[in-house]
Amino acid sequence: MSDIMSNRALSVLTDRSRQFLELEEKYGAHNYHPLPVVLSKGSGVFLWDVDGKRYYDFLSGYSAVNQGHCHPRIVAALVGQAKVLTLTSRAFYNDCLGEYEKMITAYFGYDKLLPMNTGVEAVETAIKLCRRWGYAVKGIPEGRAKIVVCAGNFHGRTSTVISFSTDEDSRRQFGPYMEGFVVIPYDDVDALAIALEDKDVAGFLVEPIQGEAGVVVPRDGYLSRAKACCEAAGVLFIADEIQTGLCRTGKLLACDHERVRPDMLILGKALSGGMLPVSAVLADDPVMLTIGPGEHGSTYGGNPLACKVAMEALQVLQDEGLAAKAEVLGEEFRRALRALGSPHVGEIRGKGLLNAIVIAHPHPEAAWELCLALKDRGVLAKPTHGDKIRLAPPLVITRDQLRECVEIVGDALCAL
Ligand code: PLP
Repeated sequence: MSDIMSNRALSVLTDRSRQFLELEEKYGAHNYHPLPVVLSKGSGVFLWDVDGKRYYDFLSGYSAVNQGHCHPRIVAALVGQAKVLTLTSRAFYNDCLGEYEKMITAYFGYDKLLPMNTGVEAVETAIKLCRRWGYAVKGIPEGRAKIVVCAGNFHGRTSTVISFSTDEDSRRQFGPYMEGFVVIPYDDVDALAIALEDKDVAGFLVEPIQGEAGVVVPRDGYLSRAKACCEAAGVLFIADEIQTGLCRTGKLLACDHERVRPDMLILGKALSGGMLPVSAVLADDPVMLTIGPGEHGSTYGGNPLACKVAMEALQVLQDEGLAAKAEVLGEEFRRALRALGSPHVGEIRGKGLLNAIVIAHPHPEAAWELCLALKDRGVLAKPTHGDKIRLAPPLVITRDQLRECVEIVGDALCAL
């Protein structure tokens, strides 16, 4: 039996749940370590398991479901377009892509969009665009372009992207690795300034808050100072806002907290409100037009279904004022969590509704155990990097619901 199946938490599973879990265990690759709960329905902030038990979702599909599960407007956009036209490939024009490109470029204030599907594809796209710009515009000698990245980063799982990961689990025995990346400490402008002295650097790729690392929030001023360094060095500032963007941190973009406008903006996850993989790279003409026909693409990128869904997902964020809501509720949430005064909590950190508690407990599995205790009490969350638990509910959560969840967290902490 594998680790997953031997987990003692399985003993409380119903036969029905166990059945689904065993199917995944037997027929699926073991590249995840899920909490033992089998979900079959979602609506707004809630998920239901196959036995009908209801949970608050405090992971939100890793922040893909900012608008709430199965948002009726986004579902309607999906279903409506699914009946008409879903995919044409980019061999032809379609009557949705241009409209979407016009909307999203106005929404974020860029000249152009390059549409992709998963987050990591958009990161790959940004890397290629950055290198191309480095050669074609900045004049870096062919084959020498470098991109500066930060320790503790998470930008996805492709071979190129894990090449500059500092997480051993993500990298080990997946080499040989892609060259051309320089890793510096996160939240360290001096290190960035030194790295940028190298004239072969084309870009700086950064998460405004490191989500997967456990919601690591840099000091105020980091992003704006980093942007200024990049400008001075003639280097592209590339923000990976796949997790932090789209209202999650209390602003449309996390970079907005410091009034920073990235030269390249990478979006994913909540761009479809959790409906299907939709990602995007936004940039101005001098960067975007360095790539020409046949030089980059994706069969599904910019498909009509994705375009309609993304437009509705963006419109919902705006119409429901989700950025302001996340900002206010996030403050209240962190204050209420701190007021619990639990000795098992080392730190509470975050911005907006992207938060984490760092568990301080002698037991190495304490964070996992706490997540099991939360699950029993009707809240779903998952540890990241051992001792950190991300708390990131859909942004449609109400103040009363959030208060209820703080009580549940307090109760689970007492039981630890
Ligand atoms: N970049 C960041 C900041 C992320 O948080 C993630 C996913 O968690 C990715 C990239 C990769 O996105 P995807 O899993 O859709 O490829």
